[in-house]
Amino acid sequence: MPLIPIPYARRYTATVSGSARKRVTCFFCQASFEYEITGRASGKGTSALFLDNKGAKERSLAHARENLDAALQRSHAPVPCPLCGNYQPNMVDILRAKYGRNYDPNAYARNRAGTTDQAAWQKARTQNNEAAYRTFIEVWPHSGLTTEAKVKLYEIEGAKGEQAWPAARRRAIVIRILFTMTVFGAIAFLSWKFGRPY
Ligand SMILES: [Zn+2]
Repeated sequence: MPLIPIPYARRYTATVSGSARKRVTCFFCQASFEYEITGRASGKGTSALFLDNKGAKERSLAHARENLDAALQRSHAPVPCPLCGNYQPNMVDILRAKYGRNYDPNAYARNRAGTTDQAAWQKARTQNNEAAYRTFIEVWPHSGLTTEAKVKLYEIEGAKGEQAWPAARRRAIVIRILFTMTVFGAIAFLSWKFGRPY
């Protein structure tokens, strides 16, 4: 007997996003500071036998909001203390998950104290060299600007490669290789065609 699936309920999923302010008392210098964290969460609601679609929609939204609140409560983002430049221990864990177990972001705390990633980025842009961008990534690991620093490093490396192997020279080599292959191919073909003993 064939199985016929009978729909009996309708499920709704709602997704909400929002932000919360997190208050931190610095583990190292006891300074208080705040930062904003953003997040996104989903919730589900089921309308059994399709009898309560509207209620199910509202429940999915309420669940999504509850989940978002809970997620924002327990989440932390790596943000250095504006006074001493240290990342809090739970933030160090987040950064180590991303950059490796031996990475110690607080080795650079003094470079961060009393300044911001924006100001440091301006300085790195002025210096505009490999060392400046590498230092920026190590000192400001949480910053969104590390992406731009990586792009700059990539550009610098690309320019270096271009100096060592200019495109014109690369092209000349490719043409020579193709020419050699054609000649050898022709010789192979001719010796196969005319060199066979009959
Ligand atoms: Zn501090």
